[in-house]
Amino acid sequence: MTALEENLQKLSGYLSRYEKQGILNRINGKDVGGEGGQFESISPVDKSVVCKVARGGAGDIDAAAVSASNAFAAWRDTPAKQRREILINVAEGIEARAAEIAVCECWDTGQAYKFMSKAALRGAENFRYFADQVIQARDGQHLKSPTLMNITSRVPIGPVGVITPWNTPFMLSTWKIAPALAAGCTVVHKPAEASPLTARLLVEIAEEAGLPPGVLNTVNGYGEEAGKALTEHPLIKAIAFVGESRTGSIITRQGADTLKRMHLELGGKNPVIVFDDADLDRALDAVIFMIYSINGERCTSSSRLLVQDTIREEFEAKLVERVNHIKVGHPLDPATEIGPLISDEHYNKVVSYFDIAKQDGATIAAGGEPIGDDGYFVAPTLFTNAKNDMRIAQEEIFGPVLTSIEFSTEEQALQMANDTQYGLTGYVWTNDLTRALRFTDKLEAGMIWVNSENVRHLPTPFGGVKSSGIGRDGGDWSFEFYMEQKHIGFATGQHKITRLGA
Ligand code: NAD
Repeated sequence: MTALEENLQKLSGYLSRYEKQGILNRINGKDVGGEGGQFESISPVDKSVVCKVARGGAGDIDAAAVSASNAFAAWRDTPAKQRREILINVAEGIEARAAEIAVCECWDTGQAYKFMSKAALRGAENFRYFADQVIQARDGQHLKSPTLMNITSRVPIGPVGVITPWNTPFMLSTWKIAPALAAGCTVVHKPAEASPLTARLLVEIAEEAGLPPGVLNTVNGYGEEAGKALTEHPLIKAIAFVGESRTGSIITRQGADTLKRMHLELGGKNPVIVFDDADLDRALDAVIFMIYSINGERCTSSSRLLVQDTIREEFEAKLVERVNHIKVGHPLDPATEIGPLISDEHYNKVVSYFDIAKQDGATIAAGGEPIGDDGYFVAPTLFTNAKNDMRIAQEEIFGPVLTSIEFSTEEQALQMANDTQYGLTGYVWTNDLTRALRFTDKLEAGMIWVNSENVRHLPTPFGGVKSSGIGRDGGDWSFEFYMEQKHIGFATGQHKITRLGA
């Protein structure tokens, strides 16, 4: 049996449990249907129905928000040591079911097993990391003044909503839910309608690990229905959102009446800048990895290559050769590097840029065409002869599509790098240390790597500037979002109180 056949066999075992009832919502530790009936989740691999999924609406969100609200005080007051143990148990539960998570994720999203097997384990790592912060999360400072002993402490904000997208959905859900639970918040999770499978696994694992009913609730459904109701619900104190920039604006408006605290992780059109003094072999590997891994459906992807004119021709020639050798195939085949795109709608969007590139005068140097019509497969694509003001350089395509643009001077590179509405990540390749310091100081991005691809270190801040988002995750920054700072001042003597009406 090949590795692909083995994974397919496992998949049919994993999916058999959803045949009868599909995926249900999980509210207060119980399975419940959706008030809108069910919708179908489609696999991008062959356009078949993965399973039916509960279509949650405002009533389901209300039940979940009430459940999260009722569970809040007890979870908040559970001793830190105990909450930490439960979160470690969740991490262990994820590790034990990592194969199931990875296989289901691949079938649901089209992402390659090569990357999803690691993403499942990263989900466990997220729980472990934040579990270890539980004990000190509420610590504060003392800020003594002449007449007062001032102390600060942090308290969890209350029940929160987590709304996640379909690219690496399991990992991204844990990235939000783990710190929320570690802070002492309770959660209502609305996963992306296109990829519901692993959110179901997460809530199951969490409850088996000892998370009390109602602390994590999962309501499936569409953004405009369940998602909207979650952002508007008065019991929900904050929304952690990952998705498109346009949706970020919409949900900010939806949350305005109830004054929701919002954390937005949004889109990107991230530049990778390659100077001629860089280690070009390593730069080439990183450029390829950061746009063609995870199907290019990656917010931090380096989708704009800015390459110095002195090396452009040679660098692009090597790129073309490598891009043409990237293995597109079944996502459950461990050798596959690129699988199908998530959905019909997204596939049509990505494919539309092949014509847009030609109309705007760019060259399709590699790929630029769909592959077969069984699933949503496209060839890894490279556009050359592009200008920074073209749509292929300004719009987030969110597929395995790279736009290469030439620059001659450092000033020009910086101007082009910043000439975009987005500001999530930037990647700079140079061996000139002074230039790297100067350039990164002026580069408009929340996260920058020099001579490196994106390597996450969980204590560092994650987030974007401009249209790429508001707020930061990672380390203590996550707790700043899920918790309230509190100040208490104790008088240390009989200081003078201004007397009115005396
Ligand atoms: P999306 O904005 O379409 O959907 C994201 C989630 O929001 C889904 O669960 C959806 O149902 C929900 N939603 C949609 N409309 C809503 C509404 N009116 N009210 C409440 N919820 C609503 O995004 P997507 O297409 O699923 O994901 C791809 C996008 O996510 C890309 O733009 C990508 O860059 C971005 N992303 C950003 C990061 C980051 O960390 N910055 C990480 C991953 C993905």
